[in-house]
Amino acid sequence: MAWDFETDPEYQAKLDWADEFVREEVEPLDVMFPGKAFWPPDDTIRKIITPLKEEVKAHDLWATHLGPELGGQGHGQLKLSLLNEILGRSMWAPIIFGCQAPDTGNAEIIAHYGTEEQKEKYLKPLLEGEVFSCYSMTEPQGGSDPTLFTTRAVKDGDEWVINGWKYFSSNARTASFLIVMAVSDPDTSAYQGMSMFLVPTDTPGVKIERNVALAGEPDEEGMHALIHYDDVRVPASALLGGEGQAFAVAQTRLGGGRIHHAMRTIGMCQKGLDAMCERALSREVSGGRLADKQFIQGYIADSYAQLMQFRLYTLYTAWSIDKHQNYLKVRKDIAAIKVLMPGVLHDIAWRAIQIHGALGVTNEMPFASMMNGASIMGLADGPTEVHKVTVAKQVLRNYEAVDTMWPSQHIPTRRAAAEQKFAAVLEHEVGNL
Ligand SMILES: Cc1cc2nc3c(=O)[nH]c(=O)nc-3n(C[C@H](O)[C@H](O)[C@H](O)COP(=O)(O)OP(=O)(O)OC[C@H]3O[C@@H](n4cnc5c(N)ncnc54)[C@H](O)[C@@H]3O)c2cc1C
Repeated sequence: MAWDFETDPEYQAKLDWADEFVREEVEPLDVMFPGKAFWPPDDTIRKIITPLKEEVKAHDLWATHLGPELGGQGHGQLKLSLLNEILGRSMWAPIIFGCQAPDTGNAEIIAHYGTEEQKEKYLKPLLEGEVFSCYSMTEPQGGSDPTLFTTRAVKDGDEWVINGWKYFSSNARTASFLIVMAVSDPDTSAYQGMSMFLVPTDTPGVKIERNVALAGEPDEEGMHALIHYDDVRVPASALLGGEGQAFAVAQTRLGGGRIHHAMRTIGMCQKGLDAMCERALSREVSGGRLADKQFIQGYIADSYAQLMQFRLYTLYTAWSIDKHQNYLKVRKDIAAIKVLMPGVLHDIAWRAIQIHGALGVTNEMPFASMMNGASIMGLADGPTEVHKVTVAKQVLRNYEAVDTMWPSQHIPTRRAAAEQKFAAVLEHEVGNL
């Protein structure tokens, strides 16, 4: 019997250290240098963060998203989940621990599909935290349906030439390389006709037209690039995975990426719940503490229950990934937690705002940006609707249609069958009366 909800003491000690370290050393960076986490550090920031990263490495918690079999020093997805729920409280923490999105997912596909040369050139600096990377897949006319992508890669001798537009390529402006999905064979289905390419950002023809900012961010700080690939030439060795393999590569990347977001979202939600409880105990209204009003107790109880459900499901899914070592086998659960994630974050952030009153909607508290984060979680790495379709299809696979007049739970039909099953006993009992 291996079901167990306890963390082994050795790893718990590491988590306890991480919890205090993030609180004391990392969270101050969020208020000191907001919005700077994904920028190459200036001298001041470097002076502060370099020793912090060294401390993380000394505790064996650096870049633990990849296991040793993929060139990392990870401890598996379950342990990563327990760590990420601590890191999720802070924008800077994933950077300080070397496991920030989108670099984690990008590292994972290079580790899985990259050649030795590609690993040396791209994966090594990524895992050492020296560079940022960008995943350039979505296009202006097609996001959730990759079969609509039109960016084209054409073979020309020993090179590929890439042309087209990509939208929402996060962090392209600070990334040293881009992972680009392009149609390499328009004559076959999209599932076999697209390939993935590793493209250094300074390759001639890579034109960042603009960096789109999210709602609430200043335009000049936008991080989501609209990119025009204009006759971008890369060598044959830029192909990541085989020709026509982009869908398989994308699935590997998005599987990990989605659950890592869920892990960090637990931390964000816990932060909202902590703030909610502190405020409820501290604020007086109408002759009593907020904590003593039943509406507020309802907010706290609902938030706690939702968060516990989401957390346990995420941990279970992480455990399943470790067990199967194959995202496809855990696809239903990854999609289901992706569906739950925006809702849990939204509900907890909304209640935190309500409990804090006017203060809650200001940028002096983190809740309004958490609400925005909930909307983002419903879109990034695929919209909720598409993931619901995945969940439903996977669930339906376990069922079969019946061709009988009544459904199998029809009570009169079942009663008739039960009467027949016990007929001999029933007849005997009646005969004895
Ligand atoms: C903050 C952020 C960061 C991102 N970073 C990246 C990145 O780094 N790289 C990258 O390539 N992309 C990135 N994206 C893009 C993201 O992957 C897309 O936004 C997402 O796949 C949806 O595509 P779309 O925006 O084009 O919406 P569309 O495809 O136009 O869909 C619009 C809406 O239609 C509905 N819909 C779509 N399909 C279905 C369906 N089958 N059934 C029912 N309803 C449906 C959904 O409500 C959906 O939200 C990012 C997005 C955000 C918000």
